[in-house]
Amino acid sequence: MIGPVDSSQVPRFAGPATFARLPRLDQVPSADIAVLGVPFDAGVSYRPGARFAPAAVREASRLLRPYNPALDTAPFEQAQVVDAGDIACNPFNIGEAIGTIQEQATELLNTGARLLTIGGDHTIALPLLRAVAAQHGPVALLHFDAHLDTWDTYFGEPYTHGTPFRRAVEEGILDTSAVSHVGTRGPLYGRADLDEDTRLGFGIVTSADVMRQGVDAVVEALRARIGDRPLYVSVDIDVLDPAHAPGTGTPEAGGMTSRELLEILRGLAGSNLVSADVVEVAPAYDHAELTSIAASHVAYDLITLLAMGKP
Ligand code: MN
Ligand code: MN
Repeated sequence: MIGPVDSSQVPRFAGPATFARLPRLDQVPSADIAVLGVPFDAGVSYRPGARFAPAAVREASRLLRPYNPALDTAPFEQAQVVDAGDIACNPFNIGEAIGTIQEQATELLNTGARLLTIGGDHTIALPLLRAVAAQHGPVALLHFDAHLDTWDTYFGEPYTHGTPFRRAVEEGILDTSAVSHVGTRGPLYGRADLDEDTRLGFGIVTSADVMRQGVDAVVEALRARIGDRPLYVSVDIDVLDPAHAPGTGTPEAGGMTSRELLEILRGLAGSNLVSADVVEVAPAYDHAELTSIAASHVAYDLITLLAMGKP
């Protein structure tokens, strides 16, 4: 394995600007896990700016270290992890961008790599799920988000950051016996939003449930639902309270702490994780890199889970 640049030789504020200072895809013979940037934010309904997230999260990832004590794993030794750079997608044409993302994600998956994608807004989860489902069939989904993202349309448009999981259910690429939202909260348009979401097959663990039931009970319930199905994890960083992640497009009060989120993710160790994403970091609204640091740690724990489950 080619690991990250040695920080005893090159200080963390120098060296390559890749995720965790890992090698680039073109510097290794083959990759087990590829960190992929998708700087696309033309699907947002409120604050724009997630197109700058891949660069910001990479910058915040400079301080990550190679051993993950919470999972007793050195992910970059257990698997060849690389930075695959960014997908160049059309910022003026959502349909074309979705096509490009699906195509390039498929190409990477076909090399045998699994993906940890850094968005971008949540629109990108749809083409990523299409690419993953083409390989594995319909996948279980754990969706961490303040929002349901199962709305039908915005301004008549079906492809937005608030609609990817309804489209995914309609397309038959999710295993609807194992799809869950975690961390939802905040006002909705009406009771029908929840009824529609239930009809699509989703289970909900609200942000308040996490606080009342605690991390261990939540993990147990989620794992029972997921079983050994191929699992995709999608983390909208707005699942965290704005105190933990102010730099995001549609912030909602009353969210989870970064400690709760990381501990729930660690509780998934041993599940059949096939790929994951972290989306909706909007660096222009961030302070002191709070949000991009949280996102880089979420990405690191997801990479650790992928490395532990290396086939
Ligand atoms: Mn959200
Ligand atoms: Mn979302």
